Amino acid sequence: MGSDFFNHLRKLLEKLPGIGPRQANRFLWALLDFTDDEQNELSNAIAEIPKHLKRCNICFRAFSVKNGEKICSFCGLNSKRDKNKIMVLEKDSDLLNMERAGVYDGLYHILGGMIDPLEEKGLVRERIKKLFERVNTEHSGKNGRLNTMPKAQVLQDLAQRDGASRAISQQRDMRVLAKSGAEASDIASLEIILALSPTKLGEFTSNYITRVLEPLKVKITRLARGLSTGIELEYADEMTLRNALDNRR
Ligand SMILES: [Zn+2]
Repeated sequence: MGSDFFNHLRKLLEKLPGIGPRQANRFLWALLDFTDDEQNELSNAIAEIPKHLKRCNICFRAFSVKNGEKICSFCGLNSKRDKNKIMVLEKDSDLLNMERAGVYDGLYHILGGMIDPLEEKGLVRERIKKLFERVNTEHSGKNGRLNTMPKAQVLQDLAQRDGASRAISQQRDMRVLAKSGAEASDIASLEIILALSPTKLGEFTSNYITRVLEPLKVKITRLARGLSTGIELEYADEMTLRNALDNRR
């Protein structure tokens, strides 16, 4: 095995959260001791990921694909979830913990991280833009804010805020998706619940989202400080989550 290949594999493993060069090396040495069958099974399973696991095109939640669908069961046609609530979370493990606690029955929006204040672009900012479009297109019913406000103006405003340029074509995509998705609620009865961990970056990200959504005049709440500073949402217990949710404002 050439060292170039070893380095290549190590770099790939280091992309995983919490994996530094040392752990990556340890993984690679352990993989060497796998039998041929075990190595094949692992590499085949990884190759199959795109066929079996996807992120929802609306909420970005990870879900198991059965028939090539692009939208998860929460956002789908037969969903029984409360469409009047969208909870914004940092990551899938937060969602898993929230569902495990059984204290919430609304929809979600997964950011895939917190905003990096030093980066102008990136996954999280892109997903926040998608949240804006989601609220703007899916939930602008008869009494929706945007019937009284020119859509172009809103989009231009957003573009200025975040250097967006593809907002209009994305908007069209979202409308097509929304048609195939669950029946949307009116923007007037919609609530966006910011449920990010109360860390510095969490606060920064929550404030940023609030600014971006501001032109839509949608109701935005945040979880109550039942979560003590620095405690990650993914480890909070049921009682803590219920209190934080009940006392949101
Ligand atoms: Zn979804």
